[in-house]
Amino acid sequence: MGTPLDSRAAQTEEVLDRLYEEYPEATISLNYSNRLELLIAVVLSAQCTDERVNEVTSDLFEKYTSAADFAQADESELADDIYGITFHNNKAGYLKSIGETLVEEHDGEVPDTMTELTDLSGVGRKTANVVLQHGHDVVEGIVVDTHVRRLSRRLGITTEERPETIERDLMALVPEADWQQLTHLLISHGRAVCDARSPDCEACVLEDICPSSKVDSDVDLASGEAWG
Ligand code: SF4
Repeated sequence: MGTPLDSRAAQTEEVLDRLYEEYPEATISLNYSNRLELLIAVVLSAQCTDERVNEVTSDLFEKYTSAADFAQADESELADDIYGITFHNNKAGYLKSIGETLVEEHDGEVPDTMTELTDLSGVGRKTANVVLQHGHDVVEGIVVDTHVRRLSRRLGITTEERPETIERDLMALVPEADWQQLTHLLISHGRAVCDARSPDCEACVLEDICPSSKVDSDVDLASGEAWG
């Protein structure tokens, strides 16, 4: 198997260095043109692909242009407008409630604190981190999505399981200046090479330092189970 560096900090630094080389343009792949659109897109993206979200929001953002538009929306019509998004009925409820809260408590604007954001319906720490980073240039934490979780475990950077605990682990290992980019680098690599089911280890720039490499390891450390 690939041989990870001696410490998790050194391993993380090496992974970052190589991925910065590999994906110099890595950034958020959701389309938005203001903070409200960003917030809505990120809420819709939970357990859904960014491609699908972008397809749906291209029309959605023409029709709903303010927090008040979401607040006043007919919920079933809104659900139809986001049809194709995973859990579209639930998410329509979130969007309407978010619109109401923004109008009632924030003058229709998207707030800029973790607490105020996570008080919104359907907004957890991950969503709030994305909105803070890309909407307000505030980096309070590390966004841990499914790719970040999978790759950081595969690469031996963390053995934690829950996103919140992985985030804390990563925050202690990664320089703050890299918190935002770490997410985009791991997502880029997860999409391009280190797929959930069939990673292309032979073509991977991290192969020699990856303890999960299929080239010579039987175990996927992301799941703790043998490669299928
Ligand atoms: S593609 Fe393979 S070698 Fe590369 S990080 Fe993923 S599991 Fe490790």
